[in-house]
Amino acid sequence: MTAQAELLIDLDAYRANLAALREYAPEAKQMAVVKANAYGHGLFPIAQAARDGGADWLGVAAPSEALLLRQGGDSGPLMCWLTTPGTDFAALIDAGIELTASSAEQLQQIASASRLRPRVQLKVDTGLARNGAFGPDFDDLVATAVKLQAAGKVVITGLWSHLACADEPEHPANDSQEQVFRNAIEAVRTAGLEPELIHLANSAATITRPSVHFGLVRVGIASYGIRPDPELAVPGVKPVMTCRAALAAVKSVPAGIGVSYGWRWISDQPTRLGLVPVGYGDGIDRAASNRGTVGLNGSRLPVRGTICMDQFVVDLAAEPAAVGDLVTLFGPGDNGEPTAEDWAESAGTIAYEIVTRLAGRWTRTYLGAR
Ligand SMILES: *Cc1c(COP(=O)(O)O)cnc(C)c1O
Repeated sequence: MTAQAELLIDLDAYRANLAALREYAPEAKQMAVVKANAYGHGLFPIAQAARDGGADWLGVAAPSEALLLRQGGDSGPLMCWLTTPGTDFAALIDAGIELTASSAEQLQQIASASRLRPRVQLKVDTGLARNGAFGPDFDDLVATAVKLQAAGKVVITGLWSHLACADEPEHPANDSQEQVFRNAIEAVRTAGLEPELIHLANSAATITRPSVHFGLVRVGIASYGIRPDPELAVPGVKPVMTCRAALAAVKSVPAGIGVSYGWRWISDQPTRLGLVPVGYGDGIDRAASNRGTVGLNGSRLPVRGTICMDQFVVDLAAEPAAVGDLVTLFGPGDNGEPTAEDWAESAGTIAYEIVTRLAGRWTRTYLGAR
């Protein structure tokens, strides 16, 4: 039986994308970023495919994601970078997860959490103003790291940061952040630390800025076959996810019919309408009401009226569709269907959000599982 609403995840495409991305940074190790349920693609199968596909590291944001991976049987190099004072650092350390310290205080909390000696990477804020130690706080962090490592309390394994504008290669922030990062590398070395992993690049910088590849690159969005920005070509990668659903109803209507909540679309001629059984409760962005399209047999069918919680309506004027036919909300685009990037444009957001926010009632089907 076909699922009513299905996400097809092509693991062969994912592994091929990782391989293609390694060619952009052949000297660097590769961290596959699998946070947020692997950008909506499903944590466990993607993590497994990343390991099979040769990724040296996995990276996640939240401790819960890192622990889930361990509970799921993953035992390889794994880093987690967004913790709070209430975080159970001992559980993470005991599970062999590498942590990040963004302040001297946080490093101290990590150092005193477990009887095991934690492996910790230092994060410097080079100009994103999110996490990471900034200015004199970084000097503090380095001094604390030297002390705690000398006392055998921690092993400082890395130094890293994150770029604000990597998807705009010409933005002056990129030069400025690279310079601040290079100064930070100097500072830790001068202080006597020799972190083995130095890293700064996300997908966009992996593709556009070899000078920041250092020892490792962290690839997220491009590994899922989505460009970090529509202006930024990524030859060699292809979308991993196809999102599709079976039409739940098909009907003919005359001109002058108001469609969906608020009657925000009125038919201007007789047409046929199809009902797609997914909505914002499944993560389909309501902002794409009256703007998105779905693909069927090479045609694009426009969304008519408001996208509801569980369903939305499309115009079948272009295709003689029948109830039960599968329409593709987005996919690789090979058969004329929209891509996640097209939906992002329709919804006024970025493609990262389109795939990551998918929730609710999808069946995830994996192709190419090993
Ligand atoms: C999400 C994230 C990445 C991956 O970014 P992409 O643009 O998806 O490649 C890399 N590093 C950090 C710290 C992140 O939070």
